[in-house]
Amino acid sequence: MAYITETVTCVRHWNERLFSFRTTRKPTYRFKNGHFVMIGIEDEGKPLMRAYSIASANYEEELEFFSIKVPNGPLTSKLQHIKVGDELMLSEKSTGTLVTDYTLPGKNLWLISTGTGLAPFMSIIKDPEVYEQFDKIILTHGARYKKCLAYHDLITQKLPNNEFIGDIVKEKLLYYPTVTREEFKNQGRLTDLIKSGKLAKDLGLPKINLEDDRFMLCGSEALIKDMSDILDEMGFIKAKKRTQGHYVLENAFVEK
Ligand SMILES: Cc1cc2nc3c(=O)[nH]c(=O)nc-3n(C[C@H](O)[C@H](O)[C@H](O)COP(=O)(O)OP(=O)(O)OC[C@H]3O[C@@H](n4cnc5c(N)ncnc54)[C@H](O)[C@@H]3O)c2cc1C
Repeated sequence: MAYITETVTCVRHWNERLFSFRTTRKPTYRFKNGHFVMIGIEDEGKPLMRAYSIASANYEEELEFFSIKVPNGPLTSKLQHIKVGDELMLSEKSTGTLVTDYTLPGKNLWLISTGTGLAPFMSIIKDPEVYEQFDKIILTHGARYKKCLAYHDLITQKLPNNEFIGDIVKEKLLYYPTVTREEFKNQGRLTDLIKSGKLAKDLGLPKINLEDDRFMLCGSEALIKDMSDILDEMGFIKAKKRTQGHYVLENAFVEK
C-alpha cells in the first residue's frame, strides 16, 4: 500500500480513553465524507497502520481523527502520545460504505453511533449535499459516561453558528446523545431507545418506517449486530456492494 506523510497540527485529549487530533492535508488528498483511511506511524522501521474514519469534512483544510486509547494497543498506546509537529503516515486512498451513494432516497437519515463510531458522522454532518438529500439528519451517539460524549459542544453550539452551513444545520440536524452508566437527559442503549420508539418520540418524529427512514450504523460489533437485527426485523434492507439499501454499516473496530 502507498503511504503519504502529514504533520500533526493539534491534539485534544477528551479523557483517559479518547483523544482527537488534526493533521495537515495535501490539497490533492481527496475523500468522500464518511470514508476511512489507514493511518499510523513508523515502528521499528515498519509502518504500523490501523483503519481510521476521517472526522473532518472533505472541504476542510486539515484532516481530523477521533481515537480510542487502548491500553497495550499496538498503535494507540503510542499514538496517544503524538504531539504537534510529529509526522503521521496515511494511506493514499480512502474507502468505505458510510456514504449516501449506497442509501436509497428517503426523508430522514439516522446516524447511529457508539464510541469512536461517531467519527465518520462528524464528517457527514458537515456535508451540505447530505442536507440537500434528506429533510432531517438525526445524529445519535451512545456512550457509557457523559465525559465520553466527545464533540458535544461542537455539535450543539459551534456547528449551528457556522457561517456557511449553520442555517441548514439549525433546520435539519437533530442530535441525540445518550449514556448508559450515569444520570443524563437521555439514558439507555440506543438499540433499546429505538426499538421502544422512545428516541423518535423524544425528537418529535413519527414512528420509524420503511418509506421515510434510512440508516448508517457505526460502532461496536454489539451495536451493529443488534441494530441490524432490529432493522431486518422491521423489513429494512442492508445495502449490498452493487445495490442501494435502507441501511449501511461499518464496524468501528474489530473485536479480537
Ligand atoms: C473501518 C474501521 C474504521 C475505524 N475507525 C476508527 C476511528 O475512527 N477511531 C478509532 O479510534 N478506531 C477506529 N478503528 C479501530 C482502529 O483501526 C484500531 O483498532 C484502534 O486504533 C486500536 O488500535 P491498536 O493497534 O491500539 O489496537 P488493536 O490491536 O487494533 O485493537 C485492540 C482491541 O482494542 C479494542 N478497540 C480497537 N479500536 C477500538 C475503538 N475504536 N473503540 C473501542 N475499542 C476498540 C478492540 O477490542 C480490539 O480488539 C476503525 C476500525 C475499522 C475496521
